[in-house]
Amino acid sequence: MLVERSQIPPEGLDLEVRVEPRWEGVEGLWASLSPVEASLHLEREGNGILASGTFSTTAVVQCSRCSEPVSVPISDSFAILYTEPSEAFDAEEVELSATEMDVDVMQDDRIDVTKLLRENVLLNLPLQPLCRVDCRGLCPHCGINLNENTCQCRAQEGDPRLLPLQRLL
Ligand SMILES: [Zn+2]
Ligand SMILES: [Zn+2]
Repeated sequence: MLVERSQIPPEGLDLEVRVEPRWEGVEGLWASLSPVEASLHLEREGNGILASGTFSTTAVVQCSRCSEPVSVPISDSFAILYTEPSEAFDAEEVELSATEMDVDVMQDDRIDVTKLLRENVLLNLPLQPLCRVDCRGLCPHCGINLNENTCQCRAQEGDPRLLPLQRLL
């Protein structure tokens, strides 16, 4: 979804959007169940566009221990200043010194709202999601899901230094 800078009136533009970004190739992401719902406010800022707002969605990711799918609600707010390529460096300096605003380069005097939301959702994905805090994960030996089953691997494990001895016995 593209918004041209020329479409933004002087007083700014408020948008309620519902987009379904593409998620193929995103590591750790199983699927996205719900589209991203967002409220945006776009404003002209110098020769660029200031985009701010909030979004929410639900991502389905893999539990980092047992690989089962986990639904993770994600919501956050953002403020991104899109500038002309030549101004990006100056704006970056402003960003460092003053605000929590992100700075990005604007292409062809327009911004891609779908891409903006996709990037912000990705930034908010949990790095090590868990299906539950005490997930027991998979057995490293036989791969069984230890939340659902038990196996005998651990009992047989023993001290590897004793293995040659055990063979003798
Ligand atoms: Zn798990
Ligand atoms: Zn096992």
